[in-house]
Amino acid sequence: MNELDSELVHGQLATLGYEFVSSANAAQVLLYNTCSVREQAEQKALSRIGIVGMRKKAGERLILGVIGCMAERDGLELFRRHPQVDFLCGPGELDRVPQLVDSAMRSLMADPSAALPRPSQHDRAALAGNKSRRTATLAAAEDGLEALDLSRAFDPIASGRPAHTAFVRITRGCNKFCTYCVVPSTRGAEIHRPPQHIIDECRRLVDHGAKEVTLLGQTVNHYRYQHGSAVTISGLETAQVGPGLSAFRAAPTARTTTFADLLRRIHEEVPELPRLRFVTSYPRDFGDDILDCMRDSPRICRYLHAPAQSGSDRILKLMNRGYTVSEYIDFVDRAFAHLPDASLAGDFIVGFPTETDDDFEATCALVRRLPFKNNFIFKYSPRPGTAAITRFADDVPDAVKRARNNALLAVQGEATARVHQRLIGTTHSVLFHEVRSRKGPRRDSNLFSPISVNGQSIDDQHAANPQSADHWQAIGRTQGDIIVAVSSSNAQMFSDFVGSLRQVVISSADSLLVHGDLVDAAATMTSRLPSEIGRRN
Ligand code: SAM
Ligand code: SF4
Repeated sequence: MNELDSELVHGQLATLGYEFVSSANAAQVLLYNTCSVREQAEQKALSRIGIVGMRKKAGERLILGVIGCMAERDGLELFRRHPQVDFLCGPGELDRVPQLVDSAMRSLMADPSAALPRPSQHDRAALAGNKSRRTATLAAAEDGLEALDLSRAFDPIASGRPAHTAFVRITRGCNKFCTYCVVPSTRGAEIHRPPQHIIDECRRLVDHGAKEVTLLGQTVNHYRYQHGSAVTISGLETAQVGPGLSAFRAAPTARTTTFADLLRRIHEEVPELPRLRFVTSYPRDFGDDILDCMRDSPRICRYLHAPAQSGSDRILKLMNRGYTVSEYIDFVDRAFAHLPDASLAGDFIVGFPTETDDDFEATCALVRRLPFKNNFIFKYSPRPGTAAITRFADDVPDAVKRARNNALLAVQGEATARVHQRLIGTTHSVLFHEVRSRKGPRRDSNLFSPISVNGQSIDDQHAANPQSADHWQAIGRTQGDIIVAVSSSNAQMFSDFVGSLRQVVISSADSLLVHGDLVDAAATMTSRLPSEIGRRN
């Protein structure tokens, strides 16, 4: 979500003529897009804000903007504690960033002898202040963010991302109120975008070279758009407030677009899109209609990122997740019954208040039982403004959280290795993202963050095999999001790999990635060949 927000802000500013530099030291305007989900993420942002403060004190004329969830959560208090911050902008107000940068530029450029007063803190802050949650209907009706999504830059240079993968938001905010989570307060009430806007955006991305679109929402399977209930004064459909959970107990009406309907429409109406993914799935209310649609639509990736969060019913209840462990297992069994070649991933929190050794063991048992290809594992971080911080003491010592985190990573490492082993001998369509030298510096990879699986970088694995004769590796992902490496001593072989889809047969595997060979160089398809369309894993 944050990555898409950064891309949209980048696009707005590029359209207005701002130039982007690759190093913070060369920039005159610095924007930090912040995350508040865990304290560690906020600490990282604060340390960068501190560095900019030192540069300003040393006399550099810079503009510092803090955008995203930390700006929304801390609000004007950030100005008091960090006077070097020029402006703040919450995630629900990002369409106002250009105006804030412009106003900060004017202050910076003003003749110091004119002694103009600095604009007030309120004029330097664009924050929702929880108004979107209090007056959700109004917020949806006045949704400036919808305009931001609609006006996004499709040129990969302007958007700041490689052209072949793209994100499209389907919902904003969240109504679930898991007790540990800041998202409902920082991103506000759940707003659902009109299906036609989403489909048009997918089509335009494909026209500009996208090979894979990932639909984004905090609980994508809760997408539900009621036609006719939110229209502008000119009669156009607009973003609307998401329904409550009770809506999923009733059958949708003929005027409803459900998540399954949305997937089917994108698959049918954007046939040139080779791959469609979605994150994040909520383990509750994931209907057979979605699984049927995935089974019948070969270009929808058989990939489910459905965080379980804990393997203990008692902890799930304290987390207010709304399902039990056996309901989670039933959901996964149902998914694999529909899609035997599916790939499952998720998130777990360890050290949630009152978590005992037995609760933690139940989490390990769940990871051993189900074929998770990977899990993101987080130590519980008490967040201001959440129900958990007021209801429960953070009573699991940090050393215990760390030990459980490492133990669960080890259990997950074994699970990943098992999933990878089962792939040996199977053939997959792989979308290649980068080409790198195994011994020298990386190539074609500057647009990507280092790839890691279950907390370990795939570079560690390269370092463990220095004797390998193959010098170059092309790295890509299957429909199921499994990382695949194809090796060669001939760099030329990979010259047009980035952004292409090719058939690969898996020859070996470890707990980080799988290795494979091109099925047949002569028969290898690029995504430009229509025969690729319609082929699955
Ligand atoms: N909407 C998604 C869902 O319900 O699964 C998750 C979105 S959340 C931004 C991403 C992940 O961060 C969560 O799945 C959870 O594991 C983790 N997380 C959220 N709040 C946390 C907290 N206070 N401490 C530790 N991890 C947290
Ligand atoms: Fe946070 Fe729960 Fe909403 Fe996910 S579903 S964003 S964890 S409140």
